[in-house]
Amino acid sequence: MVALERMVLASANPDKVAELIELLGDRFDVTARPDHLPETDEDQPTLEGNARKKATEVALATSAPALSDDTGLFVEALGGRPGVRTARYAGEHATDDDNVSKLLEELDGRTDRGAQFRTCVALIWPDGRELIAEGRVTGRIATDRRGDRGFGYDPVFVPAESNGRTFAEMTRAEKGELSHRARALTALLDLLGD
Ligand code: IMP
Repeated sequence: MVALERMVLASANPDKVAELIELLGDRFDVTARPDHLPETDEDQPTLEGNARKKATEVALATSAPALSDDTGLFVEALGGRPGVRTARYAGEHATDDDNVSKLLEELDGRTDRGAQFRTCVALIWPDGRELIAEGRVTGRIATDRRGDRGFGYDPVFVPAESNGRTFAEMTRAEKGELSHRARALTALLDLLGD
């Protein structure tokens, strides 16, 4: 096993940090992205490229192993869009609400609403060692927002295994059982070994 004392997250998003701390349990001493670090320009064409870029920048700036995740929502009826552009789907400074509204508009009247969340996680050490893993969850886009938990597209994403509930209608623990990010982290922990 690779001994890890400290792990710095490349994210400062409080919802995501809380989710990651919960998922990583007490296996690591996890800290959020330090405030003073400049934001990473997520300009790579793939989730893996962006995850790798974010983790590398944070690992070099903190001299500690850094964990980053990059997520995309791939909607079948939109030919896989917004994909790698999921955060900026409704524009460069789009809010979650803007993005969800645009998605509901684009899918208005459509019955083919299949979609998949994919997360790529990268754990990168300052000396260049790296582990990369991916997790996916398949589901569909609801016709209206439901639920007030979570973040991002949670109010309109209905995972196939959720009895019709959106992610935003689940507790954090329930979402953690089947989310794309949880699956990616589980795969990463498998790579790390015991
Ligand atoms: P990021 O890679 O985590 O920055 O996420 C990219 C986009 O996907 C952002 O618009 C997020 O709000 C959205 N997103 C990421 N993870 C989730 C999730 O678990 N549920 C809903 N939306 C998410």
